Amino acid sequence: MSHYIGRFAPSPSGPLHFGSLVAALGSYFQARAMNGEWLVRIEDLDPPREMPGAADLILKTLEAYGLHWDRTVWYQSHRHQAYQGQIDAWLAQGQAYFCRCTRKQIRASGGYYNGACRHRHLTPQPGYAVRLQVDTPITHFYDEKHGKIEIPLALAQEDFIIKRRDGLFAYNLAVVLDDIDQGITQVVRGADLIEPTGRQISLYQQLGHPPVSYLHLPLAVDHSGHKLSKQNHAPAIDRHNPRPTLIQAMAFLGFELPVDIEAAELSEIVAWGCQNWHIHQLPETFEITR
Ligand code: GLU
Repeated sequence: MSHYIGRFAPSPSGPLHFGSLVAALGSYFQARAMNGEWLVRIEDLDPPREMPGAADLILKTLEAYGLHWDRTVWYQSHRHQAYQGQIDAWLAQGQAYFCRCTRKQIRASGGYYNGACRHRHLTPQPGYAVRLQVDTPITHFYDEKHGKIEIPLALAQEDFIIKRRDGLFAYNLAVVLDDIDQGITQVVRGADLIEPTGRQISLYQQLGHPPVSYLHLPLAVDHSGHKLSKQNHAPAIDRHNPRPTLIQAMAFLGFELPVDIEAAELSEIVAWGCQNWHIHQLPETFEITR
């Protein structure tokens, strides 16, 4: 079997909260259980949504929780050349095209993009997005925990955006190019990212690269069913007293911690987690209220 390389890829829109700790821990335990590497990538792709200082705070918090990464941290803000290079190559091959359709127009034509600009041969203009022509829609994929996951055909067929109207690179493109260039073999992340997985697999296909495997972890939601996030004021996790939150997050991932482990040093709890991690103990559900 080839060498395992996993990753945790937070967006620095705010400090780490419980939901992002779950994703960090799940990807860490899985990588260590596979004797693999665990990389950290800061997805600072969308400056208006970022909080100054959040990236450093996230890294300090990971260290405080005993989650030590391999190699150097990557920042998506340093990768623009790679993203633009790929977009230019696809534009030159006619695999990608400029699109001037507004969200309102797309809503009016049924909610999914109907390829209206595919044959318009538009030249670049401020306010135009770039879309990738999807020739072979990905209508399902296999998740390591959940098995076959279906993707609605209308979504799978859509020519999706690889560069946004505001000039920012699209998340799906950046994630896939980075995962390839970092040699990632498996993506472990929250179940909120199941939906874009089809698009990401479609990017691998267009790039002629075998896709990674995927493992989606249960998502922590609040009592009204919303994902814990900065937008709905999920509190930052405590960096100075990590043990209680670490134990709660491990219980969330299906661990039953022995009493002596709960009382042990933080590094021992994490090491115990690496040794006792099994995908089958993960809850079956996609969401858990917290
Ligand atoms: N940056 C994304 C987020 O924080 C995660 C991307 C991924 O794991 O693929 O939601």
